[in-house]
Amino acid sequence: MKAVLDHVGIAVKDLPAALAFYRDALGLEIEAPEDVASERVRAHFVPVGESKLELLEATAPESPIAKYVGKRGPGLHHITLRVEDIHAALSHLKARGARLIDDQPRPGAEDALVAFVHPASAHGVLVELKQSGLVVRQAHHERDHAPTLTLRPSKGERVDRVQRFSLGDMELISLCDGFFGLDGGTMFGVVPKAMWSTHAPADEDNRITLALRPLIVRGARTMIIDAGLGDKESGKFHQLYAVDRTRNLDHTLAEAGLSPEDIDIVLASHLHLGHAGGFTVRDPEGRVRPRFPRARYVVRRGEWADATHPHERNRAGYLADNYVPLAEAGVLQLVDDDQTIMPGVKVRRTGGHTMHHQMALIESGGKTAAFVADLMPTTAHAPDQWIMGYDLYPMDTLGAKQRFAMEAVAKNVLVFFAHDPAVAAGYIRESDGKRSVVPAIG
Ligand SMILES: [Zn+2]
Ligand SMILES: [Zn+2]
Repeated sequence: MKAVLDHVGIAVKDLPAALAFYRDALGLEIEAPEDVASERVRAHFVPVGESKLELLEATAPESPIAKYVGKRGPGLHHITLRVEDIHAALSHLKARGARLIDDQPRPGAEDALVAFVHPASAHGVLVELKQSGLVVRQAHHERDHAPTLTLRPSKGERVDRVQRFSLGDMELISLCDGFFGLDGGTMFGVVPKAMWSTHAPADEDNRITLALRPLIVRGARTMIIDAGLGDKESGKFHQLYAVDRTRNLDHTLAEAGLSPEDIDIVLASHLHLGHAGGFTVRDPEGRVRPRFPRARYVVRRGEWADATHPHERNRAGYLADNYVPLAEAGVLQLVDDDQTIMPGVKVRRTGGHTMHHQMALIESGGKTAAFVADLMPTTAHAPDQWIMGYDLYPMDTLGAKQRFAMEAVAKNVLVFFAHDPAVAAGYIRESDGKRSVVPAIG
């Protein structure tokens, strides 16, 4: 069994006094608290290098933490070891006669699965085992309305595997061109950090992790929608934006069984560098050429005009090398209106993020999928007011998002998220006026 120290749990009696020590005197940063309702406990995580401290506060007198503090006073409560497979770890321990408090894992804080080992077997220390990355969520199945289990990656996790979905006669393959980091405040506009940081933890430079997820559509033709960041940028750029492309579009395209020569159509949602960077490559002679040699590249005319005539506010997002060589190579096709690009795939202008930003709607066998690009870049951007500070016309984003969300709920649209670090696709749900995303597993 391989285990790493995840965190040390400390039962706290007087939270302000504990904060005065851990936060103010030690100068540590305290994350936004998380309630574990079933335990009547509020957990305040304190990152310390690879591990964390967890300050545990009782939220009701019958809470186990209240009982612990009542009996033994505040202090060390448990240690938590993270394991890869909690079921295997539990049966391993059971076979060796360890006394378990939990025979079966259960949901814990931070969207993990946890199980406790009795202190009698661990020389006086309560040991919690934890498997992060997967939590069991209730989701409603379309057909029988029986609750089914959905696996959801945990906060901060990066998922870069190729994910395949079928939609009628078509196959949709979500690829990954790696990860990068953008300022969390800018990513969530008017939403305060106290709220967004519980969805997207920030690094020391306040950046949050985002993925680059182009989408392959295989139908009458083979199309790729957007192509990630590409590999023309310098080390300085990579540092500024925390770029990690150790696994990138080359790898995931090959894993999907495709080569650049297989792509017939490249469709651009817009020409920002996180979407169009992979449209071109620099050859050994230093010349920039189209990356997909047989493809025609479809770009909205208004977006082309904006990208080739940037102004002070949008200049940083547009790098001419990503798209000007397409025109020079004669592979550029400009489209003016919402229209069908290949059988089953239509583009629709959303505006908002940029004036001519567009999404793709994919329909087959009575089912609909959507690649929404920067209309809703991550699952956290599902609610109305979670709109990027980057957007040039945020009120247009709001309107387009509301219209799309209504349609997505009504038609059970499979929505692809271009930048979510963990969730490639999911279904938008609305209940009690709250909008959320149920991840789909490909
Ligand atoms: Zn963009
Ligand atoms: Zn983007």
